[in-house]
Amino acid sequence: MSQDLIGVVNAGSSSLKFSVYAGDECLLNGQVDGIGVRPAAKAKTGAGEALPPPDLSAMPPTTPGEALVALLPWLQDWLAGRTLAAIGHRVVHGGPKYAAPARVTPALIEELEAFVPLAPLHQPHNLSPIRTALERNPGLPQVACFDTAFHRSIPEVAQLFALPYEMAERGIRRYGFHGLSYEYIASVLPRAAPEIAGGRVVVAHLGNGASLCALRAGRSMATTMGFSALDGLPMGTRCGQLDPAVVLHLMTTEGMDAKAVEGVLYRQSGMLGLSGISSDFRDLLESDAPRARLAIEVFVHQVARNVASLAGAMGGLDGLVFTAGVGENAVAIRDAVCRACAWMGVELDEAANAARGPRITTRRSRVAAYVIPTDENLMIARHTRALVA
Ligand code: AMP
Repeated sequence: MSQDLIGVVNAGSSSLKFSVYAGDECLLNGQVDGIGVRPAAKAKTGAGEALPPPDLSAMPPTTPGEALVALLPWLQDWLAGRTLAAIGHRVVHGGPKYAAPARVTPALIEELEAFVPLAPLHQPHNLSPIRTALERNPGLPQVACFDTAFHRSIPEVAQLFALPYEMAERGIRRYGFHGLSYEYIASVLPRAAPEIAGGRVVVAHLGNGASLCALRAGRSMATTMGFSALDGLPMGTRCGQLDPAVVLHLMTTEGMDAKAVEGVLYRQSGMLGLSGISSDFRDLLESDAPRARLAIEVFVHQVARNVASLAGAMGGLDGLVFTAGVGENAVAIRDAVCRACAWMGVELDEAANAARGPRITTRRSRVAAYVIPTDENLMIARHTRALVA
């Protein structure tokens, strides 16, 4: 494999994360937080050793694009004469069209701008550093890697809402997210869990954002997130699936405007809203407060229910994979989910679960459950390298 250096950029509303890869090896990880408020940067080697961070004081960035520019002198120093062969960007929305990453051109950026209304909280921030890099260095290849792309294999019946059909034609349909994480898991399953890789597997990406994906022979068949990353499971601060009449009630009976409802659904709900304590599962698992326990029970209930729903979409279940911050680290959550899925043939091996697997079910368990760490950045680096090769 070529050892050209690939940059990976993951930009959000107030942060920009960047990495540098040589092949599959991560050499550098950095992050700018507090963009537009009080920007601060940190950096470490791929092995986790802290590096002197970039100095942002000369021109504190107010957008992710400016953050990328502010990082460049520091990155040049670190590169010490080497150059990046390309930059890959995480882009939340590829709309109904993009089922694979795409090479950045001015026309692509214009197309992706059209998806801003589908993901107003993320898409503009994802596009900002792409536009900046294209303006400053048009010769540097860039690749957009979409969170929605992996789910374009989902059959039409599982993508449609039962709304008037012309709304689907206007783009109001289920897209699904966390696609780069699911694609990475699908790519390692043949080696990590060969007995289930060709079968029906539910992958549980349980982190601050959480969703499930039904994989059949490594392809996405259904997922819990829909039109937005708000749907499906309850999350750190997001409500997950909700009767749409609740939104109507909040607006018409309680007089809330759209901005206030958005605040409730995205930032005041989920584990934080239920517990009143924290959005972080570590805090909830350590707490004795009844509502911390209740929040965890609601989460586990929804995960288990939705595993069954996705198994239904595939006509059965052969494997279950836990990944992301909670899925990889929270023994108690995996324990509770596996027990709630026992009726589908999941027989937990407690000791293996405590040891983080990778296989956490007994030898005779009909469904094999695994813990497999995800790596979205590596997926972006691989796609970028492949597309510019
Ligand atoms: P992610 O979004 O994948 O980075 O996951 C972040 C979340 O993982 C945090 O908000 C925590 O709730 C959770 N998490 C990380 N480590 C642990 C742990 N050791 N036990 C329980 N939850 C954890």
